[in-house]
Amino acid sequence: MAETLKNKVLHALGQVIDANTDRNIVSLGMVKDISIDEGKINCVLEFDEIDQRKNEKIYEDAKKAINEIPGITKINIVTTYHKKQDDIIKTGKDDQGNNDGAQTKESIEDNNIEPNLGTSKIKYILAVSSGKGGVGKSTIAINLAAAFKQIGLKVCLLDADIYGPSIPKMIGAQEKPESDGKQIETIKRYGISTMSIGYLVNDENPIIWRGLMVMKAINEMLLKVNWGEADIMVIDMPPGTGDVQITISQKLKLTGSVIVTTPQDIALADVVRGLKMFEKTEVPIYGIIENMSYFAAPDTGKEYQLYGESKTDAVAEKYGYEILARLPHDPLLMEQCEKGHPLTDLFPEHKVSQIFIEMAEGILKKIKLEQLSQTN
Ligand code: ADP
Repeated sequence: MAETLKNKVLHALGQVIDANTDRNIVSLGMVKDISIDEGKINCVLEFDEIDQRKNEKIYEDAKKAINEIPGITKINIVTTYHKKQDDIIKTGKDDQGNNDGAQTKESIEDNNIEPNLGTSKIKYILAVSSGKGGVGKSTIAINLAAAFKQIGLKVCLLDADIYGPSIPKMIGAQEKPESDGKQIETIKRYGISTMSIGYLVNDENPIIWRGLMVMKAINEMLLKVNWGEADIMVIDMPPGTGDVQITISQKLKLTGSVIVTTPQDIALADVVRGLKMFEKTEVPIYGIIENMSYFAAPDTGKEYQLYGESKTDAVAEKYGYEILARLPHDPLLMEQCEKGHPLTDLFPEHKVSQIFIEMAEGILKKIKLEQLSQTN
C-alpha cells in the first residue's frame, strides 16, 4: 500500500520540470528520499545550484503535484542544497531579510575547525529510531536521555529528526544556540546538553533548509557543536528507513540502536524494515521498545490494550530481538512533553519514569557487554 503510494508520489514528482534543463526533477536525481507515514509524505529534494526563485518554483510545483494524489493528509518537503565545489550555508536571512535564527555563513563556515572537536569525547552513541512517525520516538529519546542522567551518566541529546524536530519543544528551549564564530554551543536543560536542527532553522518554513545539505547539517551538529565530554549521546533519528536514515547511520559511528514501535500491525511492518536497515549498516540493535502498549485505568489500575493484542512478541521472536520495555499510554508523559520538562527528570519515582530508568540500565549493560566482546 505504502509502496503504491510511493510510486504515485514518484510519478507526480516526475511531472515537475526544472526550467533550466527542461527535464523532470526525478530524472535529474533531485528527489533524494520519499517516505510515507500513512497519509503523510516526507520527501527530500536536493538542488545543486542556489537559484532561489527556480528552487522555490520547483518546491511549490512538487507540493502541488503531491497534493493532487488522493489520500494525502500532510506533505513535508525538506529541501537541501548541494554545491559542487564548496558548500555554502544559508546566511540566516530569508528572502525578506528577516533573521530566521540560523547560524550565519561566517559563524559556521569555518575551515579551521579543530579535528578533535565534535563527538570524540563521547563514549557511546545510541540511536533511537522508528519505522514511521508518531509512534513516540522523540518522547522516548528525551525520557531515555533523562533516565541515563538519573543513573549517573553525563548525557547529551542530538535531535537529528530533519522532518520534524520536536526536542526543542519537549525540553522547552526557545532560545537560539550561541556561537563564537567557530563553535556552536549546545543548549543545556535538566543537565542534558542538546542540539537540534530545530534550533538552527525556522519552524514555520521548511524551505529554509535550502542552504543546507542534510548530511552537512548533521555534520555541523556533530563537528562544530561543542559537545564536550559525555558518557552517552542519544540521537532522535528521523523516522523511516530511506537514504537519509541510512547515511546518518553509516556516518555517525553509532554504538547501537533501539527501535520504537506501537503494537499495531502497520507500525510493526515498519519495524521490520528498520531492523533490516540497521542490520545492513551493521549497527547493533539492542532491542525493540513497544510504546503505548496499554492504558492503565488510574482508578482501578486495570490495563487495557489500546491497539488490540500486540504482535511485537512475534516480530521480536522471529528476528531474534529482545523487547526492551513496554510503555503505557500515559497522559502525564504526554503532558510533560507538552510542558517542556520530561517526566523522567521531573518525577523519577513515577512508574513510567521507572520503566525508562530500568531500560537505560539494561541498554548500558548491553553496550558494555558489546564493547567487552569487541575487545576480547
Ligand atoms: P515521534 O517522534 O515518533 O513522531 P512523538 O514522540 O512526537 O512521536 O509522539 C507523538 C505524540 O504522542 C506526542 O504528542 C507525544 O506526547 C505522544 N506520546 C508519545 N508516547 C506516549 C505515551 N506513551 N503516552 C502518551 N502519549 C504519548
